[in-house]
Amino acid sequence: MNTIDKIREHRDLTRDELELILTTDNRDAVEYLRQSAREVADGVYGNKIFMRGLIELSSYCRNDCLYCGLRRSNSEAVRYRLTEEEIYECCATGYKLGFRTFVLQGGEDGWFDDNRMCDIVAAIRRQYPDCAITLSLGERSRDSYQRLYDSGANRYLLRHETADPAHYARLHPSEMSFDNRMRCLQDLKEIGFQVGCGFMVGSPYQTVETLWQDLQFIRSFQPQMVGIGPFIPASGTPFADRPAGSVETTLRLLSLIRLLHPPVLLPATTALGTLHPRGRELGILAGANVVMPNLSPREHRKDYSLYDNKLCTGDEAAECRVCLDRRIRTTGSQLVVDRGDAPTAKLKVENLLN
Ligand code: SAM
Repeated sequence: MNTIDKIREHRDLTRDELELILTTDNRDAVEYLRQSAREVADGVYGNKIFMRGLIELSSYCRNDCLYCGLRRSNSEAVRYRLTEEEIYECCATGYKLGFRTFVLQGGEDGWFDDNRMCDIVAAIRRQYPDCAITLSLGERSRDSYQRLYDSGANRYLLRHETADPAHYARLHPSEMSFDNRMRCLQDLKEIGFQVGCGFMVGSPYQTVETLWQDLQFIRSFQPQMVGIGPFIPASGTPFADRPAGSVETTLRLLSLIRLLHPPVLLPATTALGTLHPRGRELGILAGANVVMPNLSPREHRKDYSLYDNKLCTGDEAAECRVCLDRRIRTTGSQLVVDRGDAPTAKLKVENLLN
């Protein structure tokens, strides 16, 4: 518990402290970690939980990440792509349900080139000036990111996947590079996006060492958002037979990230909900403060299949606001209708208004 207090105070931890926290079976210590993280989250955001409406644009992908069910060489994957009209309908449904952030995510699909994507972003921006537009479209050129930002996008999610270059090389084909991933993150930040990085917990070849590097990367990069969730094997991929990441380890890492970087927007991810029936509630109890229900058209949800058995029709669906409200209330937190910006961005807006 002294270690946890120290991490909270200094916002840092050693590799050995990380190992201790990830391996301890002292239930009191784990509960203390969880409570400390929740206190820190409440200190920054109160008991508010922000919701983002996830719109999965396309299951086509030019990349071949070894872990992902959407990888181009997965011949088992069913491919679809939303039309612009379908995307706007998702936003309209989401807005009525109280969503004030739309997350447009997809495989790296050349159909959504800069012209098309900028038109879509601009149209959403015009229609919903009070909403945040988050993009998660993978690696693009700096110029492309700049154009998307100028069209009205505010945030960009691009998980770094691992902060260890050798580990990165074991998870990706040789044409993808760690340096380019880092270049993208840096460009996004410099352009002015609120940026999210993140990684899978329990990805093949992950070690305490690589996780420690991930946490150090988060400390130095200071992203506004961090997305972490357990790795879940996907059929038709080279890692189909690998074991899934652990829910418990994911929860401990969520708590640690909250202690190391208090203002972070931290989702309790669908992957966590897929591995445990109360995964997202447990994530919130461990310090998460964002949920991202699915706003994609129902008929396509099962085909955005990053991993096997992905939740797609139950309470995680955006339509089920009432169920989600109820679930979140069991954690003592409260779902709010709000853009849910990171505190620094909010301050900037307030400064502009004053
Ligand atoms: N193409 C975009 C990108 O690269 O950021 C966005 C889509 S990508 C499928 C979104 C995230 O899904 C990845 O960053 C990865 O961490 C996660 N993911 C992919 N395969 C997964 C798996 N088998 N288990 C858990 N998460 C996975």
